Amino acid sequence: MAWIIILAAGFVVVEIHPEIVPQVKDEIKATNTRMQPYVYLIKTNIDKKLSGPVKTTSEDQVGKVSTPVESPLKNMHTSNTYYYHFKSNVPAKARQVFQNAVDTYNNTGIVKLVPGNAQPNQNNITFFIYHKKIENIASSTVELGNGGPSALQLDHYAINSGRAGLNVTYPNMSMKDSVAMHELGHALGLGHSSYTNSVMYPVDQGVSKLSEADLNGLRNIYK
Ligand SMILES: [Zn+2]
Repeated sequence: MAWIIILAAGFVVVEIHPEIVPQVKDEIKATNTRMQPYVYLIKTNIDKKLSGPVKTTSEDQVGKVSTPVESPLKNMHTSNTYYYHFKSNVPAKARQVFQNAVDTYNNTGIVKLVPGNAQPNQNNITFFIYHKKIENIASSTVELGNGGPSALQLDHYAINSGRAGLNVTYPNMSMKDSVAMHELGHALGLGHSSYTNSVMYPVDQGVSKLSEADLNGLRNIYK
């Protein structure tokens, strides 16, 4: 029995690896090839209180402040078109909040997220769920999701395989538009913002509307 399992595992490795980017493989310069999986945690304080300073972008900052860009996509060119799919175990409620987030990002006109499977040289996003319990209840934080870009860099061009996931151990806290917006933001290359009116603030504020700074951050990536 173990034999069969080992054989099967071998197959997975052999099958997946050449699939990564066969069409552009030859063009990859070794020095510029970096797969950078990013995992960020969004944490919510259980009693809904925030510690530390709270700031929002003010009127005079509009147009001047940008949500930071994650390093795999920083100073890179990439397509604004993504093909996305859901892992088969993603429940309907989670699909709905991810779909709402997809619609919101599409409505910006900056990115174009299309359902379906990408070719190996196309940008793609995978939506997933996972289970993770609070390890230390005294920390009063709950991980609601994680996500990030994973860019294959070819000279100055990046092919992004983004991931966005919700922690369904806490479905009432994680299956929300604000969490899906945050994790999809990471998948698209946005980093954390220090402004509480940003969807990319690292503590859930229930914000599901992109701030002007968030839009500027997206424009910086998808010029
Ligand atoms: Zn985050």
